[in-house]
Amino acid sequence: MRNIWYGVFFLLAAVGCNDPASKQHGGPAEGAFDFPRTHEDGQPVNVVATTGMVADLVRNVGGDRVKVTQLFGAGVDPHLYKATSRDTGLLSKADLIVYSGHHLEGKMTELFEHLARKVPTVSVTDRLPVAELLRDEHGVVDPHVWFDVSLWSRGADVVRDALIEYNPSHADAYRNRAKAFRAKLDALDAETTTRMKAIDEKQRVLVTSHDAFRYFGRRYGIEVKGIQGITTEAEASVRDLQDLAAFLASRKIPAVFVESSVNPRNIEALREGCKANGHDVAVGGELFSDAMGAEGTPEGTYEGMIRKNVDTIANALSGRKGDR
Ligand SMILES: [Zn+2]
Repeated sequence: MRNIWYGVFFLLAAVGCNDPASKQHGGPAEGAFDFPRTHEDGQPVNVVATTGMVADLVRNVGGDRVKVTQLFGAGVDPHLYKATSRDTGLLSKADLIVYSGHHLEGKMTELFEHLARKVPTVSVTDRLPVAELLRDEHGVVDPHVWFDVSLWSRGADVVRDALIEYNPSHADAYRNRAKAFRAKLDALDAETTTRMKAIDEKQRVLVTSHDAFRYFGRRYGIEVKGIQGITTEAEASVRDLQDLAAFLASRKIPAVFVESSVNPRNIEALREGCKANGHDVAVGGELFSDAMGAEGTPEGTYEGMIRKNVDTIANALSGRKGDR
């Protein structure tokens, strides 16, 4: 084993550690981030994050050692979001940029690649184990990793490692906070598993506007059907809607869901389709998919957002809508 590591060391020394090709083609980047600079002046680290879920990871792991600016607020669709000139200014002045990755922020990928040359930049999901990531039929990685709480919890370690490399004098604080946050997320994961298992297995079907919940379905044992693909850029076909309406009618699924960051018109078309099949399907409520709730509300945190979704799903699919 030792000899292998010496071999790796000499190989890296020979090709140079800054070879960008080794990061782009080797699957998940591992080990050092090779940031263009580090931070030891005692001031909090100025982090610019994209989605609320990523910003929440940084806030929890960084604590009072970070000042976090979150670019995407409640209701923002990250697939379609284009950076404004204000965003570009904030990003280029950041100490550290943290984004979700795997093309969730599809219109900003080039910008991040460009900025990474001078600003330390981290994609959370690019550093998760590739074997754990879901892909669509074209082999494209599904970026909605945060809906498997146990997998997203590992993102806390990615943020921890990035903060330690950037600001090593506070390494112990980052380690302790990441460990504490992961323990909270493990509890949330267990709670979610219990709540979903309590739903009658035949009714465990989650239909939403776009395919953001496949990680949720895999982890918590729910069949997931999105009307659009894994990006909101794709359009659903009339045929897809008809097939889905027939499926819902045959399984007597009581409710479908709308999403806070996606236009609900396809869900309305689906309900019409169900009616044509003699089945009334309710809107079970609004789920948070690619954006958290408003700042200052319980759903404005990652844990609160997951809990709210779990409540909404459990109540609607168990036929107890409006209980709470
Ligand atoms: Zn999405």
